[in-house]
Amino acid sequence: MSDELEAELREQVRKLCKRYPEDYWQEHDRARTYPEEFVNELTDAGYLACLIPETYGGSGLGMREAAAILEEINRSGGSAAGCHAQMYTMGTLLRHGSDEQKERWLPQIASGALRLQAFAVTEPDAGSDTTSISTFAERDGDRYIVTGKKTFISRVQQSDLMVLLARTTPREKVTKRTAGLSVFVVDLRDAGDAVRVQSVETMINHETNEVFFDGLEVPAENRIGEEGEGFAYILSGMNAERILLASESIGDALFFIDRCQIYANERIVFDRPIGQNQGVQFPIAEAYIRTKAATAMRDQAVALYDGGEPCGPAANMCKLLASEAAWEAANVAMDTFGGYGMAVEFGVERKFREARLYLVAPVANNLILSYVGQHLLDLPRSF
Ligand SMILES: Cc1cc2nc3c(=O)[nH]c(=O)nc-3n(C[C@H](O)[C@H](O)[C@H](O)COP(=O)(O)OP(=O)(O)OC[C@H]3O[C@@H](n4cnc5c(N)ncnc54)[C@H](O)[C@@H]3O)c2cc1C
Repeated sequence: MSDELEAELREQVRKLCKRYPEDYWQEHDRARTYPEEFVNELTDAGYLACLIPETYGGSGLGMREAAAILEEINRSGGSAAGCHAQMYTMGTLLRHGSDEQKERWLPQIASGALRLQAFAVTEPDAGSDTTSISTFAERDGDRYIVTGKKTFISRVQQSDLMVLLARTTPREKVTKRTAGLSVFVVDLRDAGDAVRVQSVETMINHETNEVFFDGLEVPAENRIGEEGEGFAYILSGMNAERILLASESIGDALFFIDRCQIYANERIVFDRPIGQNQGVQFPIAEAYIRTKAATAMRDQAVALYDGGEPCGPAANMCKLLASEAAWEAANVAMDTFGGYGMAVEFGVERKFREARLYLVAPVANNLILSYVGQHLLDLPRSF
């Protein structure tokens, strides 16, 4: 995509987002409700299907466009967290599913007829140590029976389908801890009482849940790829997730910087704009520089991803840099706005809460540091 087309795409997304002003997000934040109208409009515009190839009804665009869409949503003051997973969760199916599975689900995901926004990996007793998960899928003829418990599984109530990672061989029976895990597409519409969902209340308006599987039957034809190879399939999707969520963080950082720019010029105290004080101005400039650095690393990850090159290091590093830049900008905005940073009507405190999430999810930044230490710098493994 040319720079001009990217600029046009960004402008279109900004236009759509203008129809969802601060009041809209505050109302949903206060009531802890799902921004259904916004998600529907993004779906209808085809933005959430941008990574699905045209043969399956998507727009067949790349990571560059997907990153630009999510960045603009968050920069506008909105939150892409309610729908970002519809963009990338299907990647596991696209890369590792059979032709029949892709034909069955992708066109409907692309049109929005089916929502695939739930991605079930995290478990209370495993946390960041994914290979220690214990949710088990037992083969029984032409189906699997799933039993176990997951936590922090987002948008289950807003999804028709869920991508699930479960053990199919107990950890003590595999020689490599990454072996014996399998990936399934679960049709939540057929699940009945076998899937119980309990909302986890959080400091942000984010639909996330504990999920209990009690003898859930999943047809064997819903298994993606080979049995026991699921860990690699899930890992292959994580680069996309990291680049896209880094883009949301960059959008958040720019939201704060935009707001600071205006406020620091307009707010007069001691007969001058507060931004004239270097104590106010320099932190804004510093947050801007860090955001630009994160953007450069994100753009590098995007170019590698779209070029089909290995992008794990860049994807991980841009996620860390972008989440830190957003958090720094969030704190700078709180300082710049003084007491008004705390006042709900200014929107800064809501974004401040939302920006904090990406330091720990979808992967905690410590895990990125250990990845870089161990895999790029050849330092001793800590786990
Ligand atoms: C709002 C929200 C939505 C989420 N949505 C989803 C979802 O849809 N699907 C899903 O599967 N998961 C989801 N998650 C889970 C998220 O991916 C995890 O919270 C995250 O991976 C960290 O796991 P944990 O919370 O169990 O932390 P832990 O693994 O318990 O870690 C706690 C702290 O210890 C640190 N730590 C742990 N081990 C090490 C180590 N070896 N070295 C250094 N530091 C270490 C971590 O960095 C972290 O700071 C969501 C989480 C939240 C909060």
